[in-house]
Amino acid sequence: KDTYQRKPEWLKVKLPQGDDFKDIRNNLREKGLSTVCEEAKCPNISECWSARTATVMILGDTCTRACKFCHVKTGNPKGFINHEEIENTSKMVGMMSLRYVVITSVDRDDVADHGSGHFAAVVDRVHLDHPETKVEVLIPDFAGIEEYMHKLAKSNPFVIAQNLETVKRLTHPVRDPRAGYEKTLNCLKFYKTNYPHIQTKTSLMVGLGETWAEIQEALEDIRAHGVDIVTFGQYLQPSKRHLDVKKFYTPEEFEELKRMALKMGFKFVASGPLVRSSYKASDFLDYVETT
Ligand code: SF4
Ligand code: SF4
Repeated sequence: KDTYQRKPEWLKVKLPQGDDFKDIRNNLREKGLSTVCEEAKCPNISECWSARTATVMILGDTCTRACKFCHVKTGNPKGFINHEEIENTSKMVGMMSLRYVVITSVDRDDVADHGSGHFAAVVDRVHLDHPETKVEVLIPDFAGIEEYMHKLAKSNPFVIAQNLETVKRLTHPVRDPRAGYEKTLNCLKFYKTNYPHIQTKTSLMVGLGETWAEIQEALEDIRAHGVDIVTFGQYLQPSKRHLDVKKFYTPEEFEELKRMALKMGFKFVASGPLVRSSYKASDFLDYVETT
């Protein structure tokens, strides 16, 4: 059960059953590989996988931070980095014939370069082995240190995403004390300023107690920092220890958010109850190829 509060009908979805889906899953398991899509039991898995999009998490499964909305476990990996992730991620892209892969990671404040070098090495390897596959990276803030941000950007991903997660007023308590509203906005601006050909992206969860005016303010700030793509999804409480859901937005309200963002000049907007940062991320690729 992924939430402890009663969910409205539109949030109830069935997990996929098809043979193709099972084949891919079994092949990955045999090789000891896994995707965020499966681990997080993401309800979008059949839609995303059939669009040949998936998300993989690197830099281990233990985060040095503790955001109050996130199900990832917190701890201190004491500097350990599994270098096999470089080859394994590339293998997974091949085995799933992905045309679009989202690579994300936990935060690694325990490592000298905050994991930026390893992150870039994974992207480089995927580019080398699968030049046709587009890579989106959903990255930590690397403590806002420019040297590490350059290191990542030089791997030249198609999209760089960092999530603002929530409006300014709710950033703390929602996000870890080391994360920040301005910090994330400044990171996004850094990438757009120094690497204007790379698309930038951010996501907001709604349902944490924010007002429409606060969402509007966040969108204005995001736009003012040159971000190209924005997504909205419903916050769902991963366990009783996490923050309560304050409101379930209706599908119509998600449409309204989308209209609001498009009016403000974002290139591409995804908005819906089950939308996650990586939800059908390849739709943006289709958009770019047809415009
Ligand atoms: Fe989760 Fe990312 Fe926060 Fe770590 S930094 S707790 S992975 S949201
Ligand atoms: Fe995977 Fe993201 Fe799609 Fe969920 S939304 S299935 S995590 S790519």
